Amino acid sequence: ALLERTEAVDGAVHSYLHVDRDGALATADAVDRRRAAGETLHALAGVPIAVKDVMTTTGLPTTCGSRILQGWVPPYDATVVARIKAAGLPILGKTNMDEFAMGSSTEHSAYGPSHNPWDLDRIPGGSGGGSSSVLASFQAPLATGTDTGGSIRQPAAVTGTVGTKPTYGGVSRYGLIALASSLDQAGPCARTVLDTAMLHELMAGHDPLDSTSIDAPVPPIVEAARRADVRGMRIGIVRELTGEGFQAGVQQRFDEAVQHLVDAGAEVVEVSCPSFTYALATYYLILPSEASSNLAKFDAMRYGLRVAPRDVDDPSAEQVMAATRDAGFGDEVKRRIILGTYALSSGYYDAYYGSAQKVRRLIADDFASAFERADVLVSPTAPTTAFRLGAKIDDPLAMYLNDIATIPANLAGIPGMSVPSGLADEDGLPAGFQILAPAMADDRLYAVGAALE
Ligand code: GLN
Repeated sequence: ALLERTEAVDGAVHSYLHVDRDGALATADAVDRRRAAGETLHALAGVPIAVKDVMTTTGLPTTCGSRILQGWVPPYDATVVARIKAAGLPILGKTNMDEFAMGSSTEHSAYGPSHNPWDLDRIPGGSGGGSSSVLASFQAPLATGTDTGGSIRQPAAVTGTVGTKPTYGGVSRYGLIALASSLDQAGPCARTVLDTAMLHELMAGHDPLDSTSIDAPVPPIVEAARRADVRGMRIGIVRELTGEGFQAGVQQRFDEAVQHLVDAGAEVVEVSCPSFTYALATYYLILPSEASSNLAKFDAMRYGLRVAPRDVDDPSAEQVMAATRDAGFGDEVKRRIILGTYALSSGYYDAYYGSAQKVRRLIADDFASAFERADVLVSPTAPTTAFRLGAKIDDPLAMYLNDIATIPANLAGIPGMSVPSGLADEDGLPAGFQILAPAMADDRLYAVGAALE
């Protein structure tokens, strides 16, 4: 039924870069046979899922939204994908994304943008707009995402779906095509909090293949989602992430959701995180620095595209690399490689990258003091509802500002979630409510998220 739905709607929505009809049906049949034989299967066995194209999948093309990886079929599965397969979830296909997960709208995908099912002229968020739109257009009940600065939470917010960025190290990064390794985190996307919780538990847990994976028990996520209990919980409203700069209808739905939590027995406090003012600037030094290093491996020798330079008879390796990277990378990727290479260059390293690392520490300290007064922190997920395709494509700074509320969590490595808070009055489009918790307290996100459903 979902594959038929995709045939009917994905021409207009464009959630998928690749659909694996045969593979999905084969897995579904295999699960049916095992169930008929009386085997005890995972609770999600047979539930289809869409996988963001940043995750490697054996035998399925993996492009990361880039021309430079066109046609690349990985020889191994990301750990998250391996766990999904082991639990018997049919993989429907690979979802569209901004190239190398750089963007907030999917307009930086080399394969054209995805569209928001609420209004096809609007963006589904990014970089995981393929995964958010696949859920909102009912082509899949579950999807995977990665969140480096908001790419799970902001797409969830603007499509009225749910998404979680787990604690850094809580879900394996093995087999994710790295954007910024100290910020990247894989996580679950779904339409309900409980579905998100079940997928989160399936993905989470220690992985020896990822040196930053945390070797500790997974928090009781599904249990927290089922209980939906916020009685006595202290909810901290982050002063710097509300009010000015946020669309009136988004702010209004946020205020109502907070009131709802109070009615359910929570207590509200206001907290201040003064260093958040510098979060965006800090992120746009650290991310490009790490990205410029991670993307150096796309050198025309090892993966995907190889382009011969024009008008050169016997090109050197360097000329082939330059021609390939010129043809294979889009403008946003080039912009960030240049920014990152500059910030890391000798003589500037301390002034830019070094300073950014110090501010990163101040942001983590702000969170630590806020969490002394509150069990969770809350804010609107994104400053506005979905904007129109094309509205910010020529203005990188305007595009970057979408992540103002989501970026601090990545810099500090703490978990965050976006749940729908309703439709904004002025445009009738979904608004998102963000919940943040201390590291390894991901279960608190689900208690609050479920209480708002
Ligand atoms: N939109 C942010 C960026 O462009 C976040 C991306 C992400 O989380 N992958 O960097």
